[in-house]
Amino acid sequence: MIVTLESSADPKTLEAVVRLAERYEGVTTKVYTFPGESETISEVHLLGSTQSVPSKVFEEVAGVRSVVRVSMKYRLIGRHGGMGTHSFTYNGVRFDDEHVHVFAGLCAVDTREHVEQTMIALAKNGVTTTRMGAYKPRTSPYDFQGLGARCLPWVFELAAKHGVRVIAMEVTDARHIEEIRNALEQAGKGTGVMLQIGTRNAQNFELLKAVGQQHEFPVLFKRGMGITLEESLNAVEYVASEGNQNIVFCLRGVKSHLGEPMRNLVDFAHVPVVRKLTRMTVCVDPSHSVGRMDVAPDGLPYIFHVIGQGVIAGATSVLVDFHPKPETAMCDGPQALTLDQLPVLLEYVHTARTAYEKLSAIGKRL
Ligand code: PEP
Ligand code: MN
Repeated sequence: MIVTLESSADPKTLEAVVRLAERYEGVTTKVYTFPGESETISEVHLLGSTQSVPSKVFEEVAGVRSVVRVSMKYRLIGRHGGMGTHSFTYNGVRFDDEHVHVFAGLCAVDTREHVEQTMIALAKNGVTTTRMGAYKPRTSPYDFQGLGARCLPWVFELAAKHGVRVIAMEVTDARHIEEIRNALEQAGKGTGVMLQIGTRNAQNFELLKAVGQQHEFPVLFKRGMGITLEESLNAVEYVASEGNQNIVFCLRGVKSHLGEPMRNLVDFAHVPVVRKLTRMTVCVDPSHSVGRMDVAPDGLPYIFHVIGQGVIAGATSVLVDFHPKPETAMCDGPQALTLDQLPVLLEYVHTARTAYEKLSAIGKRL
């Protein structure tokens, strides 16, 4: 059971709700506070045997906004009883059902020149979100592992210089969070970072707890490529249960030969499923799903076509690999779009979003 308080509620209301809840045998409480742009919301979560606890006693407490019974599954991320989408603003960028973001950038940071060329293209096209891989989890230990912490100062400096506000950046170890925090501070915090959990770490529970325990950076969680959607959603619950609910869920395809000739089997049919089961907004990653630059007879790359599938199903973020010279990329060059394709990609995303808005209006009539 989740008891949500009015943002204007007296601090005594919180104490009263906790005391009231703990009067029931076998019930313990956990308090969560979610600072938002216009209001800070506090929730008291009742844990344990809550079946016999009546909602009414909490509804009657002055300062209580709502009381919702939650199933054990996806206690925190779940869309229980028609709850709204969990929206948040990070570094001036709003993540909700209305705004669509394209995180276009380098799979792996290689040179300062390539980072700057990418940032210039983003700024020219009015894009304030990017992806920059500094810590790369590679299949082989002999492949390029990313520049790590040493590229952070100039990546952050260039992002700030070109007005980029949020960089999706994968962390593969808890200590990377500290490295990012320190580098951002030293760079004057002119930009921000969304901590990306890669598909290979989808069930690295200690890493998930670490990104959940910090509240400064939002999290971009990529579904596990070889586990069920349910297992991935349970894994996200680890992040939320540590107190950080600013999470975007990213679909990136699943490992199966049935997806051939694409790199993975594209799973964007799960966009509405994730939106139904949880309160998270959904991102799609067409680059790691498709993994190749082929163009369909209509002139559109496969990567565009699958972005269309995701956005037309209600995804509000797109994570996509670009490179100024894909043939020289240290990682995933064959799936990288070139910077001159950025304006058409943005036009494509915008068109798909407009179509989604029209189609969801049909949905409201059904
Ligand atoms: C990436 O986005 O750079 C990446 C490694 O993706 P994934 O974890 O989905 O393979
Ligand atoms: Mn990659």
